[in-house]
Amino acid sequence: MTETAVRVLAERAVAGGGVPRYELTEWREEYGVAAGVTARDHAFDLSLHSETPIGTAMGRWQALRHAVGAGFEAMVVSRQVHGCELGVYQGQASGFLIRDGLDGHVSDAAGLLLAVTVADCIPVYLLAPGGSLGLLHAGWRGVAGGILERGVQTLCEVAGASPAELVMHCGIGICGACYEVGPEVSEAVLGHAPAEATALDLRDVLTNRAQVLGVGQITTSPWCSAHDNDRFYSHRRSGGADGRMAAYLGRVPT
Ligand SMILES: [Zn+2]
Repeated sequence: MTETAVRVLAERAVAGGGVPRYELTEWREEYGVAAGVTARDHAFDLSLHSETPIGTAMGRWQALRHAVGAGFEAMVVSRQVHGCELGVYQGQASGFLIRDGLDGHVSDAAGLLLAVTVADCIPVYLLAPGGSLGLLHAGWRGVAGGILERGVQTLCEVAGASPAELVMHCGIGICGACYEVGPEVSEAVLGHAPAEATALDLRDVLTNRAQVLGVGQITTSPWCSAHDNDRFYSHRRSGGADGRMAAYLGRVPT
């Protein structure tokens, strides 16, 4: 079996609906799927551990849902814990769902917009034939814990598909040059520890793991949240001061 090639696929700036964001315009055209991430200066959180008033935070989420596409009846977001637990949604969904302790979502529900928050961690977008989707929040802890493997397996079960039928994109997050980590992180993610701090490219690790899983199509974003910090939020570059971006994925209702 030949290894799947990894292509670069760039998100493009769009501002429809008054929410500046970056989208995979090819995915909307080819698959009828909205996949993207909000831009800087439009912080997304659940206002539980932040200074944002709850009304403001909820208003931003609602604005995002409407901006991404008419007909999204529901949206789901979670208080993330850098773990590997996923929510699974099948059938119909409605309203604004807030879950606890999940770092990703898998769905075949029509009209449901999946969302995770990121600022350096990688949003991983997965598509299966028939319209089922998965969206993962993959930082080093999630990658080390196997969130990609969990996400691919869960989506394959929901869709009745094989990994070779899946399409995957590693979205906007921190690049290797901007992400120096200690030996304990390298050990956890790569299984071997260099003597000193070293660069870790999470998207390289994710695409390598996806190749091992046999994912059929793999693309990766050229954007870096730290390099391109005028467009995106970076937890690392800001020393923790930056907000969070909302990554989203949903089949556009017809
Ligand atoms: Zn960078």
